Amino acid sequence: MKPAPFDFVRPTTISAASEELARCGGDGKIIAGGQSLMPMINFRLVKPSVLVDINGIADLSQIESSGGRLRLGATVRHYMTATDPLIQERIPILHEAMHHVAHLTVRNRGTFCGSVCHADPAAEMPMMALLLNGQITARSVRGERQIAAADFFQGSLMNSLEPDEFVTSIEIDELSADVGWGFEEFAKRHGDFALACVATTMSIRDGAACGARFAMMGVGETPLRLGSVEALIEGREVTPDLVNEVVELLNDTLRPNTDLHASADYRRHLSGALARRALDVAWRRAARSVE
Ligand code: FAD
Repeated sequence: MKPAPFDFVRPTTISAASEELARCGGDGKIIAGGQSLMPMINFRLVKPSVLVDINGIADLSQIESSGGRLRLGATVRHYMTATDPLIQERIPILHEAMHHVAHLTVRNRGTFCGSVCHADPAAEMPMMALLLNGQITARSVRGERQIAAADFFQGSLMNSLEPDEFVTSIEIDELSADVGWGFEEFAKRHGDFALACVATTMSIRDGAACGARFAMMGVGETPLRLGSVEALIEGREVTPDLVNEVVELLNDTLRPNTDLHASADYRRHLSGALARRALDVAWRRAARSVE
């Protein structure tokens, strides 16, 4: 397929990019890595009148750490996220997640923020933004706005940005040294989108789970942060009986889709199996830090 005609602009500042988007009257699209947008344009699933390329804005390519939070600018590539030593040390669960994302060529161009904006329910970065209490900074000619990741994902490939807003950065939590984590994903081939995935973190206080987080992807219209599972785990020892309770809760709660890749029942079954592994690994990692 060939794309419908469009104009292309490459501003070099954040304010110039906001002005370009405002000028398009809601019909423009940001291009970051282009790894998801260009196929959609080629198939004419989207037909923007203008592409606003943010890759010429130097300020957007940084990864910065401050006060226990990490900020990823809008042109930080998957490759940078996957190889950044700070991320490997302070957010090892994100480091692990990045190795499940696509292939080297896609990772060289695709961006963390672009993936979150694209809001694919089977993509790793939207789920990691939810798990790590992501805060999204959106910019338009009206100024800057903060959006919690919990309020950002509106449906499959739908986010809560206004048509003239774009994301300049996303902030996520770093993990303290006593946090154990588990990341378990199942895809048919390495680098494919996941059929299901569980990411969980926890510490141990007085022999019980503390500050538990639990997120999933591939099993709903959006990535999921499951507060009901977190509440079930909190303050308890992660034993096989507790894990059985979590699996039962997931069976009752999750409403995955049936599609070409897997049935809803298979995805529900996978969710339980992945949750068992992820919780067990997270608990053991957390236990090692209190030994
Ligand atoms: P683009 O393609 O440039 O944009 C995607 C959408 O987000 C567009 O609507 C665009 O307008 C919008 N957008 C981008 N940046 C911004 C911004 N700063 N502000 C507002 N809107 C913005 N992803 C995974 O997570 N896991 C995988 O396993 C995986 N496998 C893949 C395999 C293949 C073969 C391909 C082609 C892609 C795969 N992807 C996977 C998707 C890949 O990670 C994309 O790079 C990512 O989804 C989009 O990032 P991007 O920077 O390329 O965004």
